[in-house]
Amino acid sequence: MSEQAHLDPNVPGNPAYHFRILPPGSPGQVGWTERAVLVPKAGIATRCVHAGVQPDPAYGAVMPPIYQTSTFAFRDVCTNVGYDYTRSGNPTRAALEEALALLEGGAGATCTSTGMSAVLVALNLLPQGSHLLCTVDCYGGTFRTLEHARAANGLRITYLDLGDLAAVEAALREDTRLVWIETPSNPLLRLTDIGAVARLAHARGALTAVDNTFLSPVLQRPFEHGADLVVHSTTKYLNGHSDVVGGAVVVGPGQTPLLQRIQSLNNLLGTSQSPHDAFLVLRGLKTLLVRMRAHEAGARAVAEFLARHPRVARVHYPGLEAHPQHALARHQQSGFGAMLSFELPDGTRDRVDHVLRTLRWFTLAESLGGVESLVAHPATMTHASMTPEARRRAGITDGVIRLSIGIEDPEDLIADLARSLGSLPR
Ligand code: PLP
Repeated sequence: MSEQAHLDPNVPGNPAYHFRILPPGSPGQVGWTERAVLVPKAGIATRCVHAGVQPDPAYGAVMPPIYQTSTFAFRDVCTNVGYDYTRSGNPTRAALEEALALLEGGAGATCTSTGMSAVLVALNLLPQGSHLLCTVDCYGGTFRTLEHARAANGLRITYLDLGDLAAVEAALREDTRLVWIETPSNPLLRLTDIGAVARLAHARGALTAVDNTFLSPVLQRPFEHGADLVVHSTTKYLNGHSDVVGGAVVVGPGQTPLLQRIQSLNNLLGTSQSPHDAFLVLRGLKTLLVRMRAHEAGARAVAEFLARHPRVARVHYPGLEAHPQHALARHQQSGFGAMLSFELPDGTRDRVDHVLRTLRWFTLAESLGGVESLVAHPATMTHASMTPEARRRAGITDGVIRLSIGIEDPEDLIADLARSLGSLPR
């Protein structure tokens, strides 16, 4: 294209930066403009690398530029280039939203400042006084937000083990608007049969939302099982490097009105993600598949080691054949992920503290899904916002230790655990 073709004298400002933004799919000089059409049909590894990435109309940048701007110039009072203000929309964030929708197989997505703001956006779909069913051992922050909505907006909530389909059927009511599924759950790795619960919910006119943070679209695609919404803390595997917080709500195929409501809620609540953070998550997505494979290989080895260890009472990992829902994991997921938890037989705080303090490769920290291994004590950390009664109901005892397996050599992680467990006082 000639230089002249880029000049747009109607846009105010420095003429050196006057470029006409080409709509996606516009004819260009290079073949990559056709990728937008190819990506939805491509394999998952190809989608991780190419989804959401359009040729940069100005300089041909291979990565979408970070449009670090709060506002966009109008051509005249009625015309702009598709963006007016970054809270409502931003090209860098739009690239990530498109990528996530393509990976999950949804109609579209909206990206939020944190995983919790994604939860908040989804909950704001509900009319005042609605009833909601929720996984009993959901993330502690989700529990805290639900309890806040109960007090502030009259949300009525039933927490239950969604693996028990008879209990789900009995708990669904006329005013149930949403079933909130966390599968696998945090921290006990219980599974929910998404298809079965979605069928029950739909029969009562309720939507289903799946928090897919633990597996990512590489290992689980809830829309293929009938879910209506997928929620992510992109802070975790999608970004993968523990250097950003973010979230996303993805809307199921064909649900355009729901997508418009979700996008509008993100704008009106002021919860949208900054362009820089969106860029980092988009960068993380490119290696999602290879990271997930490495994470999972390590987690399987660690889980098998812990399951054989005489000082471990129970291991919660769906990849173990002994996991009560191993068959469901095989059917519903394309991998088992890299989150696991285990319990000491005499899980007093002293003994748990000993393990937490003596590990060397596992950093004692909140969060998960980064390339480095982390260890957490749910009762006092990730799930401290649950009441002791809620933790008891969920089965989260003081003896539960949660591991997020990174991509280090599994032998190093196993040696670390062997040394720490082996040094427990008899
Ligand atoms: N959902 C799950 C399953 C989580 O584990 C977390 C955080 O740990 C969140 C949501 C909230 O995400 P964020 O910390 O990005 O707000």
